[in-house]
Amino acid sequence: MEPNGVVVVGSISADVTAFARRLPRRGETVLGDDVTLVLGGKGANQAVAAARAGAPTWLVGCVGTDAFGEIVSSALRSHGVALTEIRSVGTRTGVAHIRVDASGENDIVMTPLANADLNTVMVDESIRAVRGKASVLLLQLEIPVDVACHAAEAGAEAGLTVVLDPAPAQPLPDGVWRHVSVVTPNESEAAALTGMRVADAESAERAAGWFLDRGVRHALITLGGGGALSVTRERTRHFPAYPVTPVDTTAAGDAFTGFLGAALAAGLDTATAVRRGMAAGALATTLPGASPSLPGRTAVDELLAAVAEEAAR
Ligand code: ADP
Repeated sequence: MEPNGVVVVGSISADVTAFARRLPRRGETVLGDDVTLVLGGKGANQAVAAARAGAPTWLVGCVGTDAFGEIVSSALRSHGVALTEIRSVGTRTGVAHIRVDASGENDIVMTPLANADLNTVMVDESIRAVRGKASVLLLQLEIPVDVACHAAEAGAEAGLTVVLDPAPAQPLPDGVWRHVSVVTPNESEAAALTGMRVADAESAERAAGWFLDRGVRHALITLGGGGALSVTRERTRHFPAYPVTPVDTTAAGDAFTGFLGAALAAGLDTATAVRRGMAAGALATTLPGASPSLPGRTAVDELLAAVAEEAAR
C-alpha cells in the first residue's frame, strides 16, 4: 500500500487565554470574565487538522516535563495524533499568553520554550521513523528556522511532498525553496517574503511567480474570504471561498494546510485537495479559538456536498 500518512514538524504550545471586557492599560489590572487553556501552536494545529481529516498523523516537536506538557500531549492524543515523535525535553512547554477583549481584539505573548529545543537530529530520526508510512511533510515557521529548512531538505530527500506554510513570515535562505513542493502563504506572508505588494488576484499571481522562480512546484496563496489562488508552471486557477459566516478567523490557515496535506497524502488530485483545505479553512472561521475550531472530516464532506448540490441546481 502507498503511504497515506502526514508528518508535521512544528510548534506545540499551551494557549492560555484571558477574556475581559477591555484589555488593561500599561500597569493596570482589570477583572476578567473567563480563562481557557487549550492546545495550540501552528504545528499542533496542523497535525490536529490532518488527523481530523482522517490521515495517520505524526507530530515532530518538543514539549516540557511540566503539567502543560501532559495537557498538550493528551489533547493531541485525543485528536488522534501519534505522539511517538514528540520529545519531552528538560525545559518547559511553549506557552501562548493571549488576552481578548469584548470586541475580539487581542494581544499575544508567544514564548517558544521547549519549541526552541527541536533540532536537526530529532528531525532526521523522525523522518526515518515514518518512512513508508507518511508521504506528506507539513512545515511552518514557529520552530528554529534552520531546523525548518533542514526538515524541508531531509523531507524532500526522503521522497515526501513538502508543504510549507511560511508563517510567521521571516526571511529564509534562497536554497530552501527547491525542496518545497507546495507553499501556502496568506497575502501578508506572500508580501513579506517576496517584497511585493499583494492585494488582489493579479498581484498574488506575481508573488506566486516569485516562489516558482526559486523552485517551488505549486504556490497556493490563501486570500481569506477571497478564497485561494493556485499557481503552477502549467496553470493559474482561482478558487472562490465557500460562503460561511465567520466569527473568528484564527487557525483558518492551519485547517487549510492540515486538510490539504491529508488529501494529498490520500492521493487525491490537487484541485480536490485545495477544495478540502478551503472548506476546512472556511469552517474553522465559524467557531472561536484555534485548535477547538478545527473541523472534522464529516463537516468538510457536508459543506462540500452542500456546495455541489447548490451548484447543480
Ligand atoms: P491564514 O489564517 O493563514 O491567514 P486565510 O485567512 O487565507 O489563512 O484562510 C485560509 C483559507 O481558509 C482561505 O483560502 C479560505 O479558503 C478559507 N477562509 C478563510 N477565511 C474565510 C472566510 N471569511 N470565508 C470563507 N473562507 C475562508
